[in-house]
This record gives sequence, C-alpha cells and structure tokens, in this order.
Amino acid sequence: CEDPSFWKDHNVQVIIRIRPLSSAEISLQGYSKCVRQESCQTVTWTGHPESRFTFDLVADENVSQEKLFKVAGVPMVENCVGGYNSCMFAYGQTGSGKTHTMLGDIEGGTRRHSVNCGMTPRVFEYLFSRIQKEKEVRRDEKLRFTCKCSFLEIYNEQILDLLDPSSINLQIREDIKKGIHVENLKEIEVSSARDVIQQAHSTNRKVAATNMNRASSRSHSVFTCIIESKWESQGVSHHRFARLNLVDLAGSERQKSSGAEGERLKEATNINKSLSTLGLVIMNLVNVSNGKSLHVPYRDSKLTFLLQDSLGGNSKTIIIANISPSNCCSLETLSTLKFAQRAKFI
Ligand code: ADP
Ligand code: MG
Repeated sequence: CEDPSFWKDHNVQVIIRIRPLSSAEISLQGYSKCVRQESCQTVTWTGHPESRFTFDLVADENVSQEKLFKVAGVPMVENCVGGYNSCMFAYGQTGSGKTHTMLGDIEGGTRRHSVNCGMTPRVFEYLFSRIQKEKEVRRDEKLRFTCKCSFLEIYNEQILDLLDPSSINLQIREDIKKGIHVENLKEIEVSSARDVIQQAHSTNRKVAATNMNRASSRSHSVFTCIIESKWESQGVSHHRFARLNLVDLAGSERQKSSGAEGERLKEATNINKSLSTLGLVIMNLVNVSNGKSLHVPYRDSKLTFLLQDSLGGNSKTIIIANISPSNCCSLETLSTLKFAQRAKFI
C-alpha cells in the first residue's frame, strides 16, 4: 500500500477508511464485522449477497492519521502550491469517523503532533513549510504568499459563517473578479498552522454556544483556504490563486422524513439534496473525464455551487468515505460503499 498511484491519471480519488469497532458496537454485536479487507484497494461487504468493491485505497484501522495524511494530504497541498484547486470530502454516516479524519484531536496543538491529530492541522503545517521552502528556492523571484481562511456551514440549504455566527443565510455570488464566492463571508489571514488551529478552537466554542440545539450531523462544514501567490520573472509580474477546501459532510444516513413536518421535513429533504447532488456532480465529472459531454448540475445545491471551481477542470478531489466495520451498521456501510463506488466508476 505504499504508493497508490494517486493523481497520476484521475482527478477524483476515492479512499475508504474503516474505523475500529467502538466499545458500544462490541457490546451489541461482539466482534463480528460486515466488511473484510482483501487488499490495499479491495474490500468485501460480507452481507447477502457478498459484494466486492475496489477503490484507490482501502485504509483499515491500522492506517494512522499520519499515514493517511501522507497519502492523501500531501499531494493535495502540492497541487495547491502548484496553483490548482483541491477539495477533500469526508463522507459517511454519523459516527463513522468523518470529524476524526478531518480534524481529529487538536488539543495537543501542532508543535508535537498528537497521534490522533487529523488531516486539517497536518495539511496546514505542511502547507506553511512548503511555502517557506518555495520562497527560499525562488528568492530571486520575490515570491510572496498570502493565505486566507474562511469557515462556513451549510445547513438546510442555508449558509452560516462559522467565523461570524451572527450572520445568517449568506448568498453565493459569481463575478468575474472573485469567481464564485459567498458574499460577506469573513476571511482571516493566517500565517501558521497554529493560527488555523486557534481559529478552529475558538470557532468550535462559539458554535457550541450559539447552536446548542443543532446537531452537526445534519450540517456540512466547509473550511476553505485561499492561497494567493505573486512573483516576478524576467520583468513580468505573475499572480495566482488556489483554493483548498476541506469538507466534513453531514451524516449520510437516511434522514427520517416520515412523520416530520415543517422545518424538520424541509431539513431532511435539503440534507439529502446537497449529498445527492454532490454524488451526481462527481459521477458526471467522472464521465466527463472519460470524454463524455454531460451537464454537471453544480447549481442544484448550495454545496456543489459553492465548490464548483474546486470540482472538475484541473482540480483534484479526494473523497474519504468513512465506514464502521460493525454488523450494527451493515446497511449504512453498504450504502456508503455504493456511493463511493459510484464516485469512482460510473
Ligand atoms: P462522525 O464525524 O462521522 O460523526 P467521529 O469522527 O465523531 O464521527 O467519530 C466517532 C467516534 O469514533 C469518535 O469517538 C472518534 O474518536 C472515533 N473514531 C473514528 N474514527 C476513528 C479511527 N480511525 N481510529 C480511532 N477512533 C476513531
Ligand atoms: Mg462529525
């Protein structure tokens, strides 16, 4: 499993991450599992009928946060330093490990990584070290970088600025200068991984204080970093932007809409809408990259509209589909494997 040929020929990569059994699952179902890993790229769902799936990588519970970062995070940062957009999604049912994967344990800060520290802090630490190196190597070009971060949540097809929770229902706009962007979204300049983590910490606190009654399992959170670089070569000045998006999706479990009314019903419908549109967009992108011309329905949901510039074209996309191996979650796990498979093949 050392070197899956990431990015070599595809712009969309799909990784399955199997988390360890939880103690609650063990007490309910013992150690019986609904999946069996066959190889670094193949996993079998052991229900009826048995079904086999192939991905770019299947990471079992022995694959550490660090290893996953090296495989998926490093190429993503390299792509951004090269001036292209990158997008990473964590998909899966609630409790499958999305937040563990994307954020993990950030209590320990970045100086000495805790083993459980997740993708985001590692990505930023690597990004800033790469920027430093790039500046040294290209000193003659007066290379300068700025990184601006924003952090938002899409809930019920409405955008909330997590860096400024007082603002509600922000709108997506498109213009020539800024491309697709969220109007009035707060952007904060950051210059170290520690800045980013501090931001994440204080945001978590603010969000916890203002949204007590809202489960994060029903919202999509999008952390974006805009990396801008300027340099001069042979008397000409250059300027470029790359976007790095780290997305912790809403739980993929079917939202119960039977019996739900009013807000709750609208919410159930809208969560499915952003997730199903994402599935469709990725599926069509795979087809487009295979030479077919298709309408890609970016604008059918807030999530896909917002990420339009980071999906397709020269952008790189990684989907980490998180699953529980327990028999308790067998059907949800199958549904995640199928989603991930569609993203890979159809
Ligand atoms: P989600 O965000 O998908 O709802 P979480 O990331 O909160 O799920 O994970 C649920 C629980 O499982 C947490 O206690 C988390 O620490 C644990 N967990 C998830 N993935 C792993 C993993 N790969 N290794 C160890 N613990 C994990
Ligand atoms: Mg979560």
